Amino acid sequence: MAGGWSRDGAEHEQMDATVNDALERARRSLPTGDSAELCDECGNSIPEARRLAVPGIQHCVGCQTELEQEARAAELFNRRGSKDSQLR
Ligand SMILES: [Zn+2]
Repeated sequence: MAGGWSRDGAEHEQMDATVNDALERARRSLPTGDSAELCDECGNSIPEARRLAVPGIQHCVGCQTELEQEARAAELFNRRGSKDSQLR
């Protein structure tokens, strides 16, 4: 049924958008130059030692960990997704 197909596709698009959003946020957390004094996520100050150790850091330890976990979860989710499409 044509209607069923387009609905299925829309669901997948939405899933991809969620994954891309997580990856995008994680990518934004990667060092890009200037270190931020305040965390981009929660606004807490980032210790100077951390800013010196990680050039371009934009997030405090807590938020960075969270973002990395989010990216890892998205990666696992993607892998599971491609396995499913191989079975199809
Ligand atoms: Zn933070």
